[in-house]
Amino acid sequence: MKLSNTPLYTASQIQQRVASLATQLSQDYQGREVVALIVLKGGLHFGSDLIRNLTIPVAVDFIRAKSYDGAASTGIVEFLIPPSLPLNGKHVVILEDILDTGLTARAILERVQADRPASVAICSLFDKPARRKVDLEGQYIGFELDDHFVVGYGMDYEEQYRELPDVYVLEPSD
Ligand code: 5GP
Ligand code: MG
Repeated sequence: MKLSNTPLYTASQIQQRVASLATQLSQDYQGREVVALIVLKGGLHFGSDLIRNLTIPVAVDFIRAKSYDGAASTGIVEFLIPPSLPLNGKHVVILEDILDTGLTARAILERVQADRPASVAICSLFDKPARRKVDLEGQYIGFELDDHFVVGYGMDYEEQYRELPDVYVLEPSD
């Protein structure tokens, strides 16, 4: 596999979109007690850039989910890092890299809802609606993607490419 010759989204395109998502969130969550829950590892850069653009105070926490998806995607998800803050009564905004099948996000949503937050929303930089296997929507979406596998800006292929500032499509090498 190799990277596309040119980025699918450049760092500056991403920064613009992230800033506008942050503006929207800052308006919608004005006056509320918010926990920004960054989903590791893919949400590393997105989460950190997004919270720096907010104009409202938030608490920050992390969650790390590991999904076991063999041939038949089971949707069984283990939490390698569970949230450390009490989410009860808080307005939780989940900050994710990509919504793909939706199985991981659904499991995270269920885990968060078990803590009885005041509200939960999903904010994902990328969304691949055509790949969805469960009925789940993000409330805040950066960009919709076709069925491409993308890397960079926190997103990996076998733990490579997370450090790249731009987002590339991973293509078969010829
Ligand atoms: P889902 O449970 O929605 O199928 O999977 C979501 C997770 O799969 C994402 O958080 C991400 O870690 C991984 N994933 C899905 N699509 C892509 C992609 O195009 N590129 C990368 N690097 N990871 C992806
Ligand atoms: Mg991954």
